[in-house]
Amino acid sequence: MAKIVVLGAGISGHTAVLYLRKNLNKSHQVVMISPNSNYQWVPSNIWVGLGLMSPEQVKFKLAPVYKKMGIDYKQALATSIHPEGDNEHSKPYVKINYVSEGKKDTEEIVEYDFLVNGTGPKLNFAATEGLGPGKFTNSVCTYDHAAEAWENLKKSFAKMEAGEKQTFLIGTGHPLATCQGAAFEYALNIAFEVTKRKLNHLADIWWISNEYELGDFGMGGAYVKRGGYITPTKIFTESVFKEYGIRWIKRAGVYKIEEGISHYETLEGEYKTKEFDFAMLIPGFTGAGMKAYDKNGKDITSKIFAANGMMKVDADYTPKPYEEWSANDWPSIYQNPDYDNLYASGIAFAPPHTMSKPMKSKNGTAITPTPPRTGMPSGVIGKVVAQNIIHRIKTGKNEHPHKASMAKMGAACIVSAGYGIRHGQAAVMTVFPIVPDWEKYPKWGRNIRHTVGEIGLAGHWMKLFMHYMFLYKAKAKPFWWMIPE
Ligand SMILES: Cc1cc2nc3c(=O)[nH]c(=O)nc-3n(C[C@H](O)[C@H](O)[C@H](O)COP(=O)(O)OP(=O)(O)OC[C@H]3O[C@@H](n4cnc5c(N)ncnc54)[C@H](O)[C@@H]3O)c2cc1C
Repeated sequence: MAKIVVLGAGISGHTAVLYLRKNLNKSHQVVMISPNSNYQWVPSNIWVGLGLMSPEQVKFKLAPVYKKMGIDYKQALATSIHPEGDNEHSKPYVKINYVSEGKKDTEEIVEYDFLVNGTGPKLNFAATEGLGPGKFTNSVCTYDHAAEAWENLKKSFAKMEAGEKQTFLIGTGHPLATCQGAAFEYALNIAFEVTKRKLNHLADIWWISNEYELGDFGMGGAYVKRGGYITPTKIFTESVFKEYGIRWIKRAGVYKIEEGISHYETLEGEYKTKEFDFAMLIPGFTGAGMKAYDKNGKDITSKIFAANGMMKVDADYTPKPYEEWSANDWPSIYQNPDYDNLYASGIAFAPPHTMSKPMKSKNGTAITPTPPRTGMPSGVIGKVVAQNIIHRIKTGKNEHPHKASMAKMGAACIVSAGYGIRHGQAAVMTVFPIVPDWEKYPKWGRNIRHTVGEIGLAGHWMKLFMHYMFLYKAKAKPFWWMIPE
């Protein structure tokens, strides 16, 4: 009998736990440890942040789904990993701290045979002074944040309806932030809602980002096929912004926020400010902040986790110049190199380096998007990690027949740009592979036949369809496994 423990009921961890339970018989134990009692379909938080969906429409309770599936669920935070056990525990274990009512702050030790870390990102608002909910800017990263953003956005709309001008600032709130796609989506939707309310003359909408060029999206930009032509995402994004009346500030590392003022440093080394009435800026991401200890209690956190707190896996972390980066640096099985029963999936794994060319300001500040790991790769990686663990349990062999390198996998991203069955809009972008491979595709860095960008109403329907389809799958309803990640 094997005991598999998964940390984090997000897109990646939840996918992993469902496949593990479906494919292993009940003599094996599958455990989920996650602090939030709800599952949330994060991509739809954008619509919560615009008052177009309620938080209830993007989340559901996890406990009944796990009960139905036969998964042990502990509503708790994992605080440390002990991959060698210790003097009292011969097996490896993870230490957890309950957050659920009745058991709050109770510590427990959960032993495992296999551990999957799917703890996603810690939203590191603290890395930028004044950033985030409760301070001076908004966020749409969780349904609570998004609901609060909508309350504040409504106030700006009301002021414009009373004839007052408003400045909106949307983008990244840290020099190394990622997730530009979500901010881009929010900016377009605000512009769409402003136009719908006929308030354009009173709205000044700005994009601010750490990207060297617009459309970088943390993946070094891309060349996409659009209407039969090949277009860099820089042109694609600039033309969409022009169409939506959004102006932009690029190559900017936001380092401090005061009430209504964003402070940023440029790659030129200048320190500038941009004023705003409403801002939604994505924070920097780090790992969940778990510690790790060996059997003697020695701190081995830096052995298991990279400096950004994300877990080391089968990537090539050797420091090398940008020109020597290779698609082969990227991991494919997400197994920790020191402990073969330890895996990290989704945002929790440490990438070998950025995809975008690293840039530093004249003052030495790194201003570069870190690599995104969007929903689709996070789900696929969760599934592949589960499949390999299932294979290991069934065969007893430390083999990994299933692989999911982001340098060999494609991804589709649908960026909604306006809501409504008849007038909605969305930009659909597919890239193959996600990580550019200049050796294999020397001309465009990617396979241009499968790297496409279009904008239109059909994209909006797809985005809406995906919302319902992925929530159906996450609820483990009949034939859920037939829906791809
Ligand atoms: C606003 C927004 C819009 C987005 N839109 C899109 C989109 O349109 N398309 C797309 O592909 N991607 C989109 N993304 C990205 C996508 O949401 C992420 O790629 C995805 O959520 C990553 O999955 P994950 O499982 O790695 O992390 P998460 O989904 O963040 O899940 C991590 C889980 O771990 C739990 N956890 C944290 N710490 C601990 C701990 N110590 N112990 C146990 N559990 C812990 C968390 O509570 C959470 O449940 C969007 C992201 C945002 C923020």
